[in-house]
Formats: sequence, structure tokens, C-alpha cells
Amino acid sequence: MDNQSTPTSTGPVIGIILAERIFAGLIVDHQLQGELHTYPPGAAPMDPDDDHALVELPTDSLIHALCDLVVSLAQGHEKDLAAVGIALPGMIRGGVVEEAPNLPQLKGAKIGELITAGLIKNGIAAPVTVLNDADAVAAGLASSHGKLDRLIRVWTLGTGIGYGRYPFAEGVWEGGHSVVSLDDKERYCGCGGVGHLEGIMGHRAMRLRFLDLEPEEVFAIANTRNGERSADPRCNDFKKLWHKSLAAVTASSIHMDGPGKFFLTGFNVRFVDMNLLHDCLHGMVKMSPLQSYSIEIVAEDQTTRVIGAAVAAEQVSRR
Ligand SMILES: [Zn+2]
Repeated sequence: MDNQSTPTSTGPVIGIILAERIFAGLIVDHQLQGELHTYPPGAAPMDPDDDHALVELPTDSLIHALCDLVVSLAQGHEKDLAAVGIALPGMIRGGVVEEAPNLPQLKGAKIGELITAGLIKNGIAAPVTVLNDADAVAAGLASSHGKLDRLIRVWTLGTGIGYGRYPFAEGVWEGGHSVVSLDDKERYCGCGGVGHLEGIMGHRAMRLRFLDLEPEEVFAIANTRNGERSADPRCNDFKKLWHKSLAAVTASSIHMDGPGKFFLTGFNVRFVDMNLLHDCLHGMVKMSPLQSYSIEIVAEDQTTRVIGAAVAAEQVSRR
């Protein structure tokens, strides 16, 4: 288990997150200074699904927008800016976007190098770290929950399933694509892989599995009580499968990386039945030194992610 000392303050850091749009903030002592800046500027549409601003944007324009945000946020701090952290949904290695299903134009882009070069032209020499957005969630939650000295793991339950880890470590960490089923019929994952966690728990995958029911309806039917048997046994079976899958990846992570804190976040934490999840995990983790794990549902927002991108970048810049 990691046991690093709690980071102490340095110069200001800029955290950026690419989601439906870009959110950026100046972070001092792990706190946001002023407002989040956004690109495109202005209010986001009510439904994030209607927000395609970034998908249409060519990589060059995106890099320009990112540099402009850093330059405007760094005003007055050009010389003492300690780091810049950029988090985006995708597989990132060494500052290169290797895979980004939601921002396909970025595949292969050397974001780290391009931003660094753009900033140098503007007199900013701060090191740039590019990371996966779930790692930014983990770092942001570690910071807001006072756990910067611990290993923190996060499952983000949304359209897809993200796995985040703090402290930030270079690696692939595509935990959402962990294999949790050996059933050949389990092929709902967006990546095309068989038996993947996201193919069972992801919102998109659930809609593909139940073409006649929305995920909300599936869980509502499965949760029907008063002794009456569910009208649709598929829903009960699926609720069990969903929780067993989450327990399975968590148990695997415990067996590989040790016990500790797991956070659950994302819009589908509303489907989590903690008792059922703990029952499943109890059957899967039997070695007593590994049983000191804990699981907590937490809320997070773009500010948490922006702070997390900054915290992770600050940590990397000190190595
Ligand atoms: Zn997959």
C-alpha cells in the first residue's frame, strides 16, 4: 500500500478537465481561486447529452483553447505557476492520448507536448501532466476528504465505468474493462470486449441489454417489495449480476493492491444497494488482513475534478 507523506503547498497549479466542455481553474493549496472558466464560454445546456461542443472541434483548435485558458488563468503567476494538469476521458500514456472514444479526434495526439510548446510561447514554463479523468476524480476526492496520504480508488458509474486511482501512477488502469463474466453472451461493452464490467454496469450497455426497459425501470422493478415477486425475474437477476460485478472488480483490486478506501460516484450510484454489495464482497474477500476495506458513495462535480487534475499534476511535478 502506498504511504506517501501529505503534499504541502507549492505555487499555484492549474487544473483542467475535458468533459462535454472544458472546465479550468486556478488552484492554490488545493482550493479553487475564483470561478471555474469554461470553453466554450457561457452556460452549458441543461442536458449534457446535447452538448457536443468539443466533439466537433479539430485537435488544433482544442489545443489553442486549452492554452488560452491556461494563459488567462495564469495571469500574474506566469513565473511561479507550479504545474498544469489536464484530465480527459481516455487512455493516456506519457502525455499521449492512446484512445479516447468520446473525443475521437484526439486519438494519437501528443497533448502534453503540444500544450507545453503553446505555453512556452506565452512565457509559461510549468510542467504539463495529462491524465485520465477518473484519476482526477480520485485525486479530487482524496483532497476533499483529507486523504492525500492514502491509496484511494474510485469507480465512476455513468454512461461508461471509470476506474480512478490516487496517488497518480503512470499506467493503463482501464479497470472499467475488467473481465467479470466468462459468459460468451456478455458482449454489451462499448469496446467490443466480452465479459467486461462496463458491458454489465455501464448505462449505455444496460440500455442495449434491456431494449424494452430503461435502467431506472429495471432497478425499480427489481426493488419491488411487499413480499410480491417481481413481475419480471430478468430485473431481479440483473440487479444481482450488477452488484456481483462491482463486488468482483473491487475484490480483485483488493487482492492485487490491498484493502483501503473505495469511493463510488457518478449518476448511477442511485442504483447501488450497499447491503447487497457488502454481502457479495463478504463472500469474495476472505483473508482477514484484506478485510479492512471500506466503500462510500460520494458526490463530486466538475470542481472536484479540476482540483483533482491540479493535485495530481502537482504531485507529478515534484518527483
Ligand atoms: Zn470493454
